[in-house]
Amino acid sequence: MILVTGGAGYIGSHTIKELLRDGREVVALDNLSAGHRELVLCREFVHGDLADGDLLRHTFRRYPIEAVIHFAAHTSVPESVADPGKYYRNNVGCTLTLVEAMVEAGVRTIVFSSSAAVYGDPVKIPIPEDHPTDPKNPYGRTKLVVEGILRDYAVAHGLRHVSLRYFNAAGSDPDGEIGECHDPETHLIPIVLEVALGVRREVQIFGTDYDTPDGTAIRDYIHVTDLARAHVLALRAVEEGRAEAAYNLGTGRGHTVREVVECCRRVTGREIPAVDAPRRPGDPAALVADPSRAERDLGWEPRFTALDPIVETAWKWMTRRSRPNPGSPR
Ligand code: UDP
Repeated sequence: MILVTGGAGYIGSHTIKELLRDGREVVALDNLSAGHRELVLCREFVHGDLADGDLLRHTFRRYPIEAVIHFAAHTSVPESVADPGKYYRNNVGCTLTLVEAMVEAGVRTIVFSSSAAVYGDPVKIPIPEDHPTDPKNPYGRTKLVVEGILRDYAVAHGLRHVSLRYFNAAGSDPDGEIGECHDPETHLIPIVLEVALGVRREVQIFGTDYDTPDGTAIRDYIHVTDLARAHVLALRAVEEGRAEAAYNLGTGRGHTVREVVECCRRVTGREIPAVDAPRRPGDPAALVADPSRAERDLGWEPRFTALDPIVETAWKWMTRRSRPNPGSPR
């Protein structure tokens, strides 16, 4: 059985769906501070916090857990700048509690949800895994510290581990069963689609003077189901002892903010007002993955390689979710 921490979150819930599809048994653990119970598709669910060592020990005794996929973390860059203690306590402190409980229970396999934020401002594009790591904010630093903890526990306790460095997770389950729900929403694609839905008046384009073809920032948008599938493959590779320490997960293609807004106009057929705004502090001009290591070692290849189909899945989820339930009171 696989323990998925943060299993009620965006990427965690999609990964559970792929694990179940792969025939794995899954138990999800989530404190529901940001996650949603209804996104969890596996039967076994533990409502609780990773800071609670007793709960973890109990969970490892109760279920026959062979491996952990660890998503649970705070994920907002600006919040991490304003309140770094919250991020170090949760993202680093709770991970330490988790790996200690794993070692105590004899569970020695972990897939860790890392981030392209560990690289900071890239010195070259696309970014390979051996690119220097120099995070620009506490969020990225917590991810890099945890990668280091896993390496140290591998030496001391034989922990088998892999860190997956995500670029920009986007889209929703193509079946429309689960999807992205952040509150507040900070990510570009759902924000633009909220404008299309009429929930927001306009989208602000953060920075129009970058050294890019149209002056707006470039990101590598990777579909969440492709990310989820990479976890299933990475888990297998760690179990078989053939995984490297870290893999980039991205498509290797970059899109500017203006291209994303244009794509959302195309997909939704709506106008979507956009206004130019100052740069968001700490944003690099361009982040694009070199995903060749994951392709080579994990046999992973993104199925969503173009932006339109990614946005279509996000739009399908958002329009479905915004429709009132016929049985529910108005
Ligand atoms: N962005 C924007 N307007 C918004 C939200 C995001 O222009 O309302 C830009 C942001 O500055 C970045 C890109 O869109 O260049 C992707 O931002 P997001 O927050 O989705 O992901 P990040 O790259 O920060 O992880």
